[in-house]
Amino acid sequence: MTALDPEALGARAYAMIAELATISADPNRLVRLFLTPEHRRAADLVATWMRAAGLSVSEDALGTLRGRFGSARRRLLIGSHLDTVIDAGKYDGPLGVIAGILAAEPFARAKAKQPFGIDVLAFGDEEGSRFPATVTSSSACAGVFEQEALALADANGVTLAAAMRAYGKNPHDIPAAAYRPQDAAAYVEVHIEQGPVLEAKGEPLGIVTGIVGQTRLRVTVAGEAGHAGTVPMNLRRDAFAGTAEMALALEAIAREHPEDGMVGTVGRIEASPGAVNIIPGRVVFTVDLRALTDALRTAAVERFAAEAQRIAEARGLKVAVEPFHEIATAHCAPALQELLAASVSDLGYTPIRLPSGAGHDAQVMARLCPSAMLFVRCRGGISHNPAEFASVSDMGVAIAALIRFIERFQPDGAAIG
Ligand SMILES: [Zn+2]
Repeated sequence: MTALDPEALGARAYAMIAELATISADPNRLVRLFLTPEHRRAADLVATWMRAAGLSVSEDALGTLRGRFGSARRRLLIGSHLDTVIDAGKYDGPLGVIAGILAAEPFARAKAKQPFGIDVLAFGDEEGSRFPATVTSSSACAGVFEQEALALADANGVTLAAAMRAYGKNPHDIPAAAYRPQDAAAYVEVHIEQGPVLEAKGEPLGIVTGIVGQTRLRVTVAGEAGHAGTVPMNLRRDAFAGTAEMALALEAIAREHPEDGMVGTVGRIEASPGAVNIIPGRVVFTVDLRALTDALRTAAVERFAAEAQRIAEARGLKVAVEPFHEIATAHCAPALQELLAASVSDLGYTPIRLPSGAGHDAQVMARLCPSAMLFVRCRGGISHNPAEFASVSDMGVAIAALIRFIERFQPDGAAIG
């Protein structure tokens, strides 16, 4: 086994993360969107790091960088993303790409003879901050890219297809980005937790059990607008008061399965006519409901719809509940979870098992091949915020665990003890 110095690995990772964070469309905050000049500069910098680590670099039609080591047909894929939200932190995404490079480096340098090769992937579109679509780059690698996405436009009316051409790519080359399932042995991603669990447990690393499935609903509540001064309380059909009761019903339903990572959120509410002295006649609100078990999520959605109906009837309101987005849970492969857990234990830490409530490239890659994620503790569980922070030593331990994982990995599932 390779001798490991987690502190040194963490310090190298931090220096790279800090350098990447200087590449932004806005001098005062971190903004790095898909297929922009900043994406180009970030990819060029990461490509120099890949080459320095002994990886050969190529780039696919959606700008995903591949740092490749070894000629074996079966590939261990390690990746994450370079794009950010607007006013981002610097760890979300880059940590996983850099961890992949630093973990692949000792194998590439030693020209290790393994029954599998390593591809480090740097995706460009995980956050969905530019186009109204997410994970298009990992979808292309997984062979599940949806062609309709090419017509989606950003805030300036530039379509994804046009942005690709401006980036020097051709949409016709997207199918060539896909791995053949028989070549993709596994996908693993290191990512900051973006939640408070590891910090609360006092452990640096977590093994993700699955990435929760998600349903989004648009709920329209119709009542009757009226004068806020003259309509007595018992004669009102207040669409917002009904909405408030429905939001509390959602909260109660979601609280029933904390063990399953179930969470329910009413995130957007539009009340009309929206004046201080008018009873709201109509409200449109969104529901975001997530859980690790698809059946529990589906049942919770049905119960919420029934509760909303009951509340509406009791208040003389009408309600319509329409789903507009649904994604199934992606379970992390048990054998890979065990391998990651053993690698974390090797370093003297307790591997905490936890679901991911946020979406990730791994959710898409799980449609291609067995996939797993290693979470890294982050301060206060804060992400998508410049205050995002992971310590040098936690990042170093994560990279060391990834190196142990590669040492143990076998492309056909059997772990090396
Ligand atoms: Zn991310």
